Order: sequence, then structure tokens, then C-alpha cells
Amino acid sequence: MRIYLDHNAHSPLRPQLRDWLAARLASPTANPGSIHLEGQSARAEVDRARRLLQAELGTTYGRIVFTSGATEANNLALRAMLAAGSVAAALTEHTSVVEVLERAGEGGASVFKLAVDASGLIEVDDVERLLRNGLRGIALLAYNNETGVRQPVEEVAALCLAHGAHLHVDSAQHLFRYPWSHHAGISSVTISAHKAGGPAGVGALWWAPERGPAPLMLGGSQERGARPGTEAGWLIGALGQLAGGVSFADWLALASVRDAFEERLASQLGAVPNGALVGRAPNTSNLWLPGHDAEQGLMALDLAGIAASAGSACHAGALEPSPVLLAMGLSDARVAASFRFSFGPEHSGLSGAEIADRVLTALRGS
Ligand code: PMP
Repeated sequence: MRIYLDHNAHSPLRPQLRDWLAARLASPTANPGSIHLEGQSARAEVDRARRLLQAELGTTYGRIVFTSGATEANNLALRAMLAAGSVAAALTEHTSVVEVLERAGEGGASVFKLAVDASGLIEVDDVERLLRNGLRGIALLAYNNETGVRQPVEEVAALCLAHGAHLHVDSAQHLFRYPWSHHAGISSVTISAHKAGGPAGVGALWWAPERGPAPLMLGGSQERGARPGTEAGWLIGALGQLAGGVSFADWLALASVRDAFEERLASQLGAVPNGALVGRAPNTSNLWLPGHDAEQGLMALDLAGIAASAGSACHAGALEPSPVLLAMGLSDARVAASFRFSFGPEHSGLSGAEIADRVLTALRGS
């Protein structure tokens, strides 16, 4: 039996959603933009998904723009924020934020990178200083995809509210798991279905400001002009089905599996977690395993039936040193010996200690 510990890269399709999609695929399809009955029922599905998502986010205002995933949603948000003025982001943000800002900076836009400390945390004072000097927007990952580190989103949101600045939160990694009812000060949110057991290829941008985000592409008036192109009806419907189907309590419960896993690896291998532990995403374990090269170790784990990673999967399979761990000031040697294990609802049914024992056996044999 394989053990899948890479839920932060992709969380396998939930069984109930598989059934829903199978039933949906058996029905006729149509373009939601068509005015005939078939088109209108496709439109109703998209609208229903929008309502479900909006309800799940706990917001009664703002609007949702469906996209192909979190990468597109981040690009959409960042471009609109840059059009309004200077933007800052932590050095540990996802590449779909970092690269947009780098490119904009090369083109003359005013962009700032927020340094993180050895725990992976930004300094709130740095944000305040930038806001006092006229910063218009900030992009912040609430939970880091590589380390699970939780940024002080609420404090930054309060500052953004006070200064009238735009706070964009990339919520790709914690869809439906963040207390959105406290979202005062957050102006936009990125969502991706496939990190929460939905299909890859669909996501959304929740956007609060009065004026909608400008489209990245031209060619149609779908999504009120913000995202031209025929809506992906089934995928959007599936994203809507996820709303309400993902339990915050189930996610929190993963911490006990993760903690037992880490305890065993700490006592047997001297494993040390990377990043701040307080408030960390309960499913994420980024571990330094001294003396174990990640590239070789991951191959040994894979051969032994365990899927894990060394960081983000967004670099086309290349095992480059993690920019997130490097930004935290960790040594090259430590980064090269760091592994990311991310748990999810269908990880195996084994206890954390049993999973750790399987990891130990695989690494000792390598
Ligand atoms: N943001 C974060 C935090 C992510 O982890 C990822 C996926 N690694 C993305 C954005 C991009 O998501 P998608 O695959 O939906 O484009």
C-alpha cells in the first residue's frame, strides 16, 4: 500500500466528488453563455457554485471570478494591485506572486520584498513602515505551502484597513480552513480546488474592491469581463461542491498524526522542523533530516511506496534548492537535507508513528 504525503502539491480527488463528477458527466452539457434551456441550466450550475463558494467564504459582499487555478488568480490580483500603486510581498510567497512582482519591478513598478526571519515570519513593523510611506498593496500567504508557517495575517489586515491598502491572501493551501468571518482588511483571496481534494484546473479569485480586476486576456465578456473564455462548467460545479464538504475540524485533527510522525523521526533520526511551529498548518511537516540528501532520500521513499517532496512542485519536477528555506537563511546543507511531508484525509489510515517507521526503513536502506 502506498502512502501519499504530498497533499500540499495536490490532494487526491475526494470520493464523494468523484461520484458527483461521474453523475455530472453522464448528463448533457452546454455553453453557460447560450440562451437556450441547456445553456441556462449550465449557467445555473456556475451560479450555484458561485453562491456556495461565497457562503463558504463567509462574505456577503465582493465577487468571485472563476479561474484555471491559483496561479491565474494570483496573477489577476497582482496585476490589478500593481495598476493601483506599489506592492509588497514576502520573499517566501509562491512563485505565482514572486515572479509577477519581479517582472513588474523590471518594468519600473514600485515593488518591495518583505524579508523573513529564520522561522519564516515577516516583521509586522516592516509592513507598517511601508504602509506609512504610501504602500498600496500587500500579498501574503496565510499558511506557507512548503513549511506550513502561519503569517500574522490578522495584524497585517488591521494595518491595511487603517491605511486603506489592499491585502491579497493566497489561500490555495487552506481553502475553507481559514476563519473568513474575520476577514476585515482582506481585499482579495485566491482559491484552488485541487489542494483541497477537488479537480486540478479550476480556482477562483474573491475580490472585494468596487472596481473589478482587469482581465489578463481579451476575447469575451464572461465573468463580467474579468475572465474571458467559456466557463469550465463541471470543474466550477465541483469547486462549488467542495464548499461545505471540507471540514476544518478534520484538517486540525491531522496535527496529531503529524506530531507523532515528527516525534518519532526526531528521536530516531534527529529530525528538526523548519520554520515557526506556533500556528503552523496542521498537515505540514517540513523536516531537516541531518545526513540525508533530499534528492536521494525522495527516490528511496518513492521506491518504498511513499510519496513526499522537497518543496513546491511548481518547478517542473526540478529539484532546486527551496527558495523559501533559503530566504529563511538556512544553510545550503540544511536545505539540501530538508523534506516536505504533507498529510491529508486519505493519507493511509496508519498512525503517525507507523508512517514514520516506514520512512525510517526506507531511508536507512538507501
Ligand atoms: N499558491 C500556492 C500557495 C500554492 O501552493 C500553489 C500550488 N503549488 C499555487 C499558488 C498554484 O496553484 P495552482 O496549481 O492552482 O495554479
